[in-house]
Amino acid sequence: MQTVSNILSLRELRREWQLTGKRIAFVPTMGNLHAGHLSLVTEAKANSDIVVVSIFVNPLQFGAEEDLDNYPRTLAEDSEQLKALGVDVLFTPTVADIYPRGLEQQTFVEVPGISYMICGASRPGHFRGVATIVSKLFNMVQPNIAFFGEKDYQQLQVIKAMVTDLSMNVEVVGVPTMRHDDGLAMSSRNGYLTEAERATAPTIAHVLTHIKAQIESGNRQFKQLISEGNAVLKEAGFKPDYIEIREAFTLQAASFEDKELVILGAAFLGKTRLIDNLQVSL
Ligand code: AMP
Repeated sequence: MQTVSNILSLRELRREWQLTGKRIAFVPTMGNLHAGHLSLVTEAKANSDIVVVSIFVNPLQFGAEEDLDNYPRTLAEDSEQLKALGVDVLFTPTVADIYPRGLEQQTFVEVPGISYMICGASRPGHFRGVATIVSKLFNMVQPNIAFFGEKDYQQLQVIKAMVTDLSMNVEVVGVPTMRHDDGLAMSSRNGYLTEAERATAPTIAHVLTHIKAQIESGNRQFKQLISEGNAVLKEAGFKPDYIEIREAFTLQAASFEDKELVILGAAFLGKTRLIDNLQVSL
C-alpha cells in the first residue's frame, strides 16, 4: 500500500492506472476506522482493480459547535488495517492542500432540497461541506465506482443526487450498516460515549426496529409511531433530535402509498449525537 498525501502524486498514479485500463474504486472516510468502514473497503476490493481510500477530517462539514478538534485521529492503526485488506493507495491530503484559498472563499457544491431536511436542518451547511469535499475528492481520484455507508443514509442520497445533477461519471454504491452485537450502529462517535451511555446507546436501534416491525405489520399511524419512539428515547436518557419516516429516495414525508421507506433517527446521548436508520421495503 502506498500512502500519498500530495495531490499531484495521486494524479500521477491515476494517469498510470488510466493507461493500463484499471478500474478504480474509491472509499472516502474521515479515519478512525472500524468494521463498518472496512466493509466498504472489502466491497471496493471485490469490484475493482485498484482501491483508493482517503482519510481526511473535513472541516467544511463541521458546524462551529461541533467536534472537529476532538474528532479521533488514528492514522497509524487505520493504515495497518487498510494495508491488511490489500488497499492500493491511502490518500491523506492536508487541509491546506484541499482548501488552499481558505474555507471562507471556497467554491462549494450544494444539493438543494434534500440537504436542508432532517440532519441538514439540525446541521446547517453540513451536506454542503460533504458534497463539496466528495466532489473535490472525485476530481482528484476520478474513480469508476465509489462506496458509501447506508449508516449515513441522507449523505448517501445527497451524493447520489449530486452525481446525477452534475453528470459525474462515477457509480455510487451504498453498503449496509455494520452493527455491534447489541444492535448499535458502528460509528467513530461511539468512542465518545461513557460506559453507561454505551449501554444505553442501542436503544436508538431498538426504537427504529420496533417502528419498522409495526409498519411491516400494517401500522400506518406514522405520527403516533414517531411520538412513541421519541418518548422511549427520552425515557432512556436521550435528547431526541428527530425520528422521521420518509420515502426512501426523495426523503420526502412518507405517504400511505409509498413502498420503499426509511426510518431515520438522531438523538443526543450526553454530548454525543448518534444517528441511525432502517429501510423498509413493503
Ligand atoms: P466517516 O469516516 O464517518 O465519514 O465514514 C466514512 C464512510 O463509512 C461513510 O460512507 C459512512 O457512511 C461509512 N460508515 C460509517 N459507519 C458505518 C457503518 N457502521 N456501517 C457501514 N458503513 C459505515
